[in-house]
Amino acid sequence: MEKISTEIRKRLVTMHQTGSHFGSAMSIVDILTVLYFKIMNIPSPDDPDRDRFILSKGHATSAWYTTLAKKGFFPEEILDTYLDDGGQLYGHPVRGGVPGVEASTGSLGHGINIGIGMALAAQNDGKDYKVYVLMGDGELQEGSVWEGAMLASRLKLDNLVAIIDANKLQGFDRVENIQPINTFRGKWEAFGWIVKEVDGHDHGELEATFHEVPFKSGCPSVVIAHTIKCKGVPEMENKFESHYLSVPKDKVEQYVKELDEER
Ligand SMILES: [Mg+2]
Repeated sequence: MEKISTEIRKRLVTMHQTGSHFGSAMSIVDILTVLYFKIMNIPSPDDPDRDRFILSKGHATSAWYTTLAKKGFFPEEILDTYLDDGGQLYGHPVRGGVPGVEASTGSLGHGINIGIGMALAAQNDGKDYKVYVLMGDGELQEGSVWEGAMLASRLKLDNLVAIIDANKLQGFDRVENIQPINTFRGKWEAFGWIVKEVDGHDHGELEATFHEVPFKSGCPSVVIAHTIKCKGVPEMENKFESHYLSVPKDKVEQYVKELDEER
């Protein structure tokens, strides 16, 4: 598992010589690895009974593309075409772009509400698949998140799991300096969700926590995953600049080497 995460991160270093959101993608690699290789049941991208995953923080989609390719949903060579004109790998995920992308996202605050629709459909159809929605912590400033949070508990969607990538940074600054949001328990509990907090880079802790879903029968679950933006590249870790800066060509070798050494 650690090897898979490292391989994904190394791939992201080379992919992000163009385009932004390198740090946003590196932040969620461990969460994606555990979900796709240990937790979710997705025999094929169009299996009607598959678990669903929505990347609501769609700007981090390079990490999702790489995970889907590692999973075998499309050839890894396609990753070399990231952001190419006329290619399949857009800067934000588009349903129909590559197999495994469940929803078009990028406008923040919408993923949880798409997830609610999917979870409600499962409930109505008597299916037991789960729906996982990964959001950013800055994204929690969107009012639509809380409209959805309120509805999900009203509908008793215990097949719905929200995951917060709590890296404490957003596009222009630290979350606490832009619009402080209590991502840590209080608001979610007030909206009827059951909360667990984990180290978002600890595979064992993530896996054990996801296995406990639903945390309480009849209630939606939220996992607050404490992460480090740009995890794995020491000189860019926990810096908001990693949201926009791409990887300089002369740094690729160093970053890849550091990732190998860390493992
Ligand atoms: Mg963030």
